[in-house]
Amino acid sequence: MPSLGRFSQWTFLNKKQGWHPSDIGLRKYCRILSFFWPGNIIRYRFMDCNQLLNKQYFNRQDIIVLLALRGNGLDALYRKSQQVREKNVGKKVYYRGLIEYSNRCAKNCFYCGVRRGNKAIDRYTLTDDEVLEAARLALNENFGSLVIQAGERSDRGFVEKIGHLLREVRKLSGGKLRVTLSLGEQTEETYRMWRNSGAHRYLLRIETSNPALYKKLHPEDDLHSFQMRLKALDLIQETGYHVGTGVMIGLPFQTLDDLAADLLFIKNHDIDMVGMGPYIEHEATPLFRYRDQMQSKKERFELSMKMVAILRLMMPDINIAATTAMQTLHPQGREIALKTGANVIMPNLTPLKYREGYLLYEIKESTLKEGGLGNKPL
Ligand code: SF4
Repeated sequence: MPSLGRFSQWTFLNKKQGWHPSDIGLRKYCRILSFFWPGNIIRYRFMDCNQLLNKQYFNRQDIIVLLALRGNGLDALYRKSQQVREKNVGKKVYYRGLIEYSNRCAKNCFYCGVRRGNKAIDRYTLTDDEVLEAARLALNENFGSLVIQAGERSDRGFVEKIGHLLREVRKLSGGKLRVTLSLGEQTEETYRMWRNSGAHRYLLRIETSNPALYKKLHPEDDLHSFQMRLKALDLIQETGYHVGTGVMIGLPFQTLDDLAADLLFIKNHDIDMVGMGPYIEHEATPLFRYRDQMQSKKERFELSMKMVAILRLMMPDINIAATTAMQTLHPQGREIALKTGANVIMPNLTPLKYREGYLLYEIKESTLKEGGLGNKPL
């Protein structure tokens, strides 16, 4: 990698406001900060870009600096993450067929279009035959695995139905098709029963590692407790699943410090796979009213790419999904994410007639042609 020489990166930390990079003169910026926020902690650092990128371990400050990179420094980050990706997980892209099994949900997350409180959508649940047809398609197309995702429910009928479907998929594929579940918080008994019925991986997104921000994204009740979410993640790990998690990027109220903490959370919990992507607002949700306080979609997309690249450097052999939300914000979003450090894509195998009903956010791209590809090199 060519030397970029030295560059300077100013980092401003404010107890209340989080982080603010600026291209304007330091003195001027300090004056503005100290006028508005007299309690500032102001730190700055001069650093060689290559030196930072080659560090064995990134602390929170390092990650904040990386998240703020622009120009040559940003190009160097992407080049480095691509090298690390190729060296550790190769050029192969893993396809996981996604089944959006049901949009019935007991929860009411403030950012989600499928939330219980949204009365404007028709609720659906796939039939057993439709699930098994999608599993057959995934098998025929040589997908390594299947992801079954749905709104969160823990009633007995739902829990048993999932167990039954897992056993049927195992029978149908002779155990060849690995199954990932993304069905939210459940009891230890349920996790265990689903694991014994054939599930291998479990994806439980924490959405943010900051409890205060989590509170702003969810109603304050037992059903939406941050502590319960963390406990569920531990339970999944203890039950023997390969564990996935994820966060939203570019949320209102979110700072770069929060995102840096998210990446450290993923590393410290030794997560096996990550599905993180830009937050995209949905009109029929409470969080929509804060849309003016967010970064532009272009900025949220770029921030997501940086998160992917930095995570690849922090955890060289982790599986990172190029998510649909990335594709929604940029026509080549998934391809760019794959070049930036991701190595998994999840083509949607849900029958077309249901897809309108599973809009977690607005303008999601879902096309049939996504389902017809196998594992192939970049
Ligand atoms: S994010 Fe998940 S749990 Fe929350 S409302 Fe949407 S589908 Fe339900």
